[in-house]
Amino acid sequence: MLLEQFGGANGELAAAMQYSIQGLNCDDPDRKDMLMDIGTEELSHLEIVGTLARMHLKPMKKSRDSAEADPLIAIAGGGGVGLFNSMGDAWTADYLKITGELDVDLRSNTAAEARAKIVYERLINFSDDPGTKDALQFLMTREITHMKAFTAALESLGKDQFSIGKIPPTLGLVDEYFNDSTGAGDEGETDARGPWNTGGKWKIVESPELEQGVEGQSGKTIAKNHKHVSEETGKTRVKKSA
Ligand code: MN
Ligand code: MN
Repeated sequence: MLLEQFGGANGELAAAMQYSIQGLNCDDPDRKDMLMDIGTEELSHLEIVGTLARMHLKPMKKSRDSAEADPLIAIAGGGGVGLFNSMGDAWTADYLKITGELDVDLRSNTAAEARAKIVYERLINFSDDPGTKDALQFLMTREITHMKAFTAALESLGKDQFSIGKIPPTLGLVDEYFNDSTGAGDEGETDARGPWNTGGKWKIVESPELEQGVEGQSGKTIAKNHKHVSEETGKTRVKKSA
């Protein structure tokens, strides 16, 4: 299970590579320094996780009973750690999220830290060795520290929360919430309202594909609420015929 944090998607090698390579691509010298600092710290975490995993795997080298717990590690890996996740899948650069846009990368990094944190928490919950728990608690704590640093770095850029890149989104359309699942399913799903679709500038649009005129089973165009929506948005919607 520890191998997930060694060679897994949200593991320490992935974190080290993601932040270091983002740092190499970063033109902002102050934030580049932070990315390189945290990327390097993640390499030290890789060492801690690797050492910890190795301590737990060591008996596999000599004891058949231990080896039977994971023949792949015992026979192919000689009871050592390798760049594989807990399912035995090889580590891949596809795990890395590197966009070349600093604020977008920083958002990826806070999400990556949140995923690493929750994996450590689960490992702690499934661990009964006090020394192992202690090391995992340390690693889990540092991920929150990194999350704080990435968040502060993002906020210090002074960009509006929803300002990504340079081209502004289309006015009006950006505030439309498409109510694409009806809330009338067999499982009693509800059509929910909350701050994600109501209040402020939000405008709820009922099933836009249907509004725009999709051929129904009867061969007639379904657009029963179309007029209603047009009045609401106060403009003509582009109609696509499917
Ligand atoms: Mn880490
Ligand atoms: Mn981290």
